[in-house]
Amino acid sequence: MLEKVVIANRGEIALRVLRACKELGIKTVAVHSTADRELKHVLLADETICIGPAPSPKSYLNIPAIIAAAEVTGADAIHPGYGFLSENADFAEQVETSGFIFIGPTADVIRLMGDKVSAINAMKKAGVPCVPGSDGPVGTDSDKNKEIAKRIGYPVIIKASGGGGGRGMRVVHHEKDLEESIAMTKTEAKAAFNNDMVYMEKYLENPRHIEIQVLADTHGNAVYLAERDCSMQRRHQKVVEEAPAPGITPELRQYIGERCANACREIGYRGAGTFEFLYENGEFYFIEMNTRLQVEHPVTEMITGIDLVKEQLRVAAGLPLSFTQDDVKVRGHAMECRINAEDPNTFLPSPGKITRLHVPGGLGVRWDSHIYAGYSVPPNYDSMVGKLITFAENRDIAIRRMENALSETIVEGIKTNIPLHKQILSDKSFRQGGTNIHYLEHKLGLK
Ligand code: ADP
Repeated sequence: MLEKVVIANRGEIALRVLRACKELGIKTVAVHSTADRELKHVLLADETICIGPAPSPKSYLNIPAIIAAAEVTGADAIHPGYGFLSENADFAEQVETSGFIFIGPTADVIRLMGDKVSAINAMKKAGVPCVPGSDGPVGTDSDKNKEIAKRIGYPVIIKASGGGGGRGMRVVHHEKDLEESIAMTKTEAKAAFNNDMVYMEKYLENPRHIEIQVLADTHGNAVYLAERDCSMQRRHQKVVEEAPAPGITPELRQYIGERCANACREIGYRGAGTFEFLYENGEFYFIEMNTRLQVEHPVTEMITGIDLVKEQLRVAAGLPLSFTQDDVKVRGHAMECRINAEDPNTFLPSPGKITRLHVPGGLGVRWDSHIYAGYSVPPNYDSMVGKLITFAENRDIAIRRMENALSETIVEGIKTNIPLHKQILSDKSFRQGGTNIHYLEHKLGLK
């Protein structure tokens, strides 16, 4: 097993990784910014190192400082969590060339999947269903582009190959707008991602977001751990997630899951990853792969009983996965509400000191959060301050359990989006299950 891990992240995910390390008897190093001295995992880690000032480019994105921290503490591996440097191929490469283990896939695989055009090509080759599209970048030949769009059928979406975070996309409904949209997306992509490569695909009008969790080791084993439904989104940000996805049959799960596991073997994937799909009219369409642990990983852990972070650590140590595909059994239903420090009506961040905190509990209730009474939420980072997860024998009870848990939760001093979650949970369509990715914005009158 690994002996000492640097946790190159903050907040709830840093605490999540710390807990897994402790269970496995692995020593931990918390690297943190000057704004994060009071973070819960920093207080609990075996060693701590301040790597820079509050702004993340100077701390959590500061590659030399993080690698130096591994060096001076004699750590053997670095866990990137999610966000920050987790999908940065150059970071993964520098970690490994400096003699440390990067807890994630190889830099080459991160690069392959980080570029959407190359990712789609690799997935097509591996037999993963993709959105009908341009099959590669689109250039400046107007007639050719019109031909491609006609073949795909309007509406089409122009997407930046290097895009991320829901940026660098433009929907085109009519041929007359095609050229200008391509040119504008190219300009934006160049400015935002320093890569003006764009491609075209069919714009799916009312899809759901369904994603497949995978795990792969360095012994040729790759497994899928069922799916999650993350269709409840605002501005491409997930708000509520659940597993399994309503209406997905075991046959469909196996069909898409096997293709994802097979793709992992083909590209030489290592560690935890997620294949994101749009799902419409019974068909899956691959949109991208996240080559890291995801925020919503707990719902998968609840329905499978598998600790994803511990498996990541095992794989990084060169051990085989601790189970096989046949051991993966889906049981019950799990829900996750992302608790953000924000105004529930305006969605503006609400940092500040937490004066009072009561966390929920009981059978099937999981609270993954670093906050405590007296803790100050700094204004410098993402506003998510925790995740509330419930698990029950079926979806109805998981929802009711979540309603109870939310009503037990008291956070004072800052505003949270708990009222929004209560509103979503009591929604009739949500309770039926299977709402699409536009549902929440329509409900909130934002579309
Ligand atoms: P990013 O890396 O920026 O998150 P994605 O490719 O994952 O980009 O797409 C983000 C979101 O944009 C999707 O969740 C979906 O809401 C929308 N989207 C992307 N591609 C399509 C498409 N072909 N049809 C409809 N919506 C799309």
